[in-house]
Amino acid sequence: MSSVILNALGHSADELSKMVQTSLQGGNGGELFMTGTRHFSQTLSNGILQQPSVALIKGGSVRRINGQETPFVVFDGFAAHDLNNALNLISKVPQGKAPTVNLTASGIAPKTSYYTQNDAFEGVELDVLQAYVVDLLREIDSYARQQDTRVANVDVQVAIAGQDKLIVRADGRVLSEYRPKCQFVVNVVLIEGDKKESSSENFGLPFTYTELLNARDDLRAMVDRCIEKASNNLTAIPAKGGDDFEVVFGPGFSGGVVLHEAVGHGFEGDFHSKDIASFQGKIGERVAAKGVTVYEDGTVANARGSYNFDDEGNAPEKTLLIDDGIMVGLINDELSAAALNMPLTGNGRRESYKHKPMPRMSNTYMEAGNATLDELIGSVKKGYYVMELNGGQVDIVSSKFVQNGTVVREINNGQLGAYVKGVSVAGKGNESYKHIIGVANDFEISKNGMCGKEGQSVPVTTGQGSMLFAKGALKVGGSA
Ligand SMILES: [Zn+2]
Repeated sequence: MSSVILNALGHSADELSKMVQTSLQGGNGGELFMTGTRHFSQTLSNGILQQPSVALIKGGSVRRINGQETPFVVFDGFAAHDLNNALNLISKVPQGKAPTVNLTASGIAPKTSYYTQNDAFEGVELDVLQAYVVDLLREIDSYARQQDTRVANVDVQVAIAGQDKLIVRADGRVLSEYRPKCQFVVNVVLIEGDKKESSSENFGLPFTYTELLNARDDLRAMVDRCIEKASNNLTAIPAKGGDDFEVVFGPGFSGGVVLHEAVGHGFEGDFHSKDIASFQGKIGERVAAKGVTVYEDGTVANARGSYNFDDEGNAPEKTLLIDDGIMVGLINDELSAAALNMPLTGNGRRESYKHKPMPRMSNTYMEAGNATLDELIGSVKKGYYVMELNGGQVDIVSSKFVQNGTVVREINNGQLGAYVKGVSVAGKGNESYKHIIGVANDFEISKNGMCGKEGQSVPVTTGQGSMLFAKGALKVGGSA
């Protein structure tokens, strides 16, 4: 096994495996987790080039599993004596009083990668890379200004990162990989008279920098969408609220955010093991309408949420959560799987080496339906078509969620009407999904998404076709 981190430590995989097994013996598991991450980002803000940000962040942590207790030691850098100190400290932690649980690891990480493992920076010098990126930023800025004379401001950013990761488990398995990532963010402001509207688009994908530079057509299309959305919102009228609206969510990120917040978080095993999840005890019961089938899947090729092994060193899986409306599964890491005596699903994720893993989503999606978006809209007497939301919030315990619409149109007697402003949509995940009356065939998986939980942020995606909630399923707030 070749690994940048092993080389830096001056150990072979076998040597390090023996050191970690010795340090963690007597517990129920755990691992050494190490990453080295190189970042570069550059922003062009209203035509002014900002200072580039460059960083190389290295470090690791050792976690021991003693029942449900997890003593944890963090160290910065790759120095051998810091690693030895951490392994030594954790070996002195007495074994916990909790009963020994046999963890069933879900196997070795797949040999094929779900994304390119090529160097994000492709070996070029930073000043050369920066020149390419600055050219791209200036090109996108002037493209945006050429499209519409009302464009008053453009902010555009490129971030490139590459991460080496090494996990050595208490059972001796050693896993290593490299993952590239490129992020592109654009925000466009339109001014017309005394009205001002802005709109943004972003993606973050496992790309190398030339793949990003070669995606110019996609980047321009993102600018076009920003201008179209902001332009439409310049004509928007205040929205009326009420509880008698039918609501159609557009494909991909729009309804997907609702799926992630209202449903996905309620399926995370740690909340179930603490007996406080909104979907507690509902396995085998109807939690959504017939025709609603939901997966959590860390194996989607080239998706932002995918990984070749999770942050405990277990393989990701395609896990069925809701089968035709019936709750059938949970999202588990090693601790929650052991506590619940349920299958491990390879969802132990963490923000960085400074954090402990917990059960987290990766790519969460609802299977496409048979309807078309036009059919869904055509069937609505009085409602809203929500094309875009600005993130969302959920209380995982009560499953109450609220989302703010940023691009929304009225639907009157099956026809799309005016753009409206100030729409919020609220519901209860474990109730509202029983009242979905149509899912369309326009399935999309998002190219963006971050999930925050207990102070830790991880990249995720969400996917679905357009979907229609019946009257009464959601409470709509307005601004009129
Ligand atoms: Zn989340």
